[in-house]
Amino acid sequence: MASLPKSMKAVQIDKTGGTEVLQYRDVPVPEPKEGEVLVKNEFIGINYIDTYFRSGVYPLPTTPYTLGREGSGTIAALGPNAPSDLQLGTRVAYMGQYAYAEYTPVATNYTIPIPDSISTKIAAASLLQALTAVTLIREAHAVQKGDWVLVTAAAGGVGSWLVQLLRAVGARTIATASTPEKRELATKNGAEVTLEYHEEDRDVFVQKVLEITGGQGVAVVFDSVGKSTFDSSLAVVGRKGSMVSYGNASGPVTGFALARLSAKNIRLLRTTLFNYVATRAELEMYAKELWSFIEKDKLNVKIHDVYPLKDVVRATQDIESRKTTGKLLLEP
Ligand code: NDP
Repeated sequence: MASLPKSMKAVQIDKTGGTEVLQYRDVPVPEPKEGEVLVKNEFIGINYIDTYFRSGVYPLPTTPYTLGREGSGTIAALGPNAPSDLQLGTRVAYMGQYAYAEYTPVATNYTIPIPDSISTKIAAASLLQALTAVTLIREAHAVQKGDWVLVTAAAGGVGSWLVQLLRAVGARTIATASTPEKRELATKNGAEVTLEYHEEDRDVFVQKVLEITGGQGVAVVFDSVGKSTFDSSLAVVGRKGSMVSYGNASGPVTGFALARLSAKNIRLLRTTLFNYVATRAELEMYAKELWSFIEKDKLNVKIHDVYPLKDVVRATQDIESRKTTGKLLLEP
């Protein structure tokens, strides 16, 4: 720890609200505890979930709270009993908390060495969103070759991964996104068909999906938009298919009547990545599969932009504006 500075820059909030609550300030450099390492961040991944903590959709664990759920860099200090593959100077990517900072203490369970063939930038641009996509297609619903799948917000961070992974496993993707440019990106990434959301007339949307799938509906919907798409997504799931809800970009889904599932014996899931990679063994297994997808299937890790950490307000406004495609990164 001797060579570490005493203070660092971080982005904290003292209360929930709009982007005006984001504070770029000096804070003490944290010390890693038992079961943690301290990472000197090179890149910090922005995720939509960061906006839920800032706005109050998800409760704050404490205040002041340092935002940010993932990053990559090198290990700058070790807590007691760190595993042998995590050493001072090891290049790592991690998921956890407090990433919007120069240094982040992270649980060793959620810290993974980066293979030599992958840059720290690509690792930070991938880990959380790509692992979400890998676990969705493997565990939430084990997608089979030839399955029709509906992906919402298909040009976003997780959406872009889903579309590419689904192509890699031979599924047939119907992708929704709000603009022609976004739908074009989804097509480039491997979507067979792209559609508008048709929020003002859901019957049009449902009819189109039924036509595309020969009247059967899709094997699974991966829906991250939540409130505004839940009904139309559920309506296009085929018999014995899965409705996988994994996000609330338009607001949380509430007041759902369970009996609606019986019309087609639909499996309904509300998933979170952290319950699929709760142990180091699970993280290692899925990270290995992710690195292999990136290398073997030549996936397009699209980076929307890299923003200086001090420009966090602009970056946050950009992701909330719906104008971004792919991954937003911060650089301390
Ligand atoms: P994205 O880059 O996908 O950005 C969010 C996208 O949601 C927008 O680009 C937009 O795409 C779409 N959207 C639809 N309605 C709205 C709205 N009312 N306001 C803003 N955006 C809207 O973000 P991420 O890849 O970081 O996350 C995607 C989703 O996945 C989020 O809902 C996030 O919470 C969820 N997630 C869940 C995880 C889990 O473990 N359950 C893990 C990681 C992410 P368009 O304009 O095309 O509609």
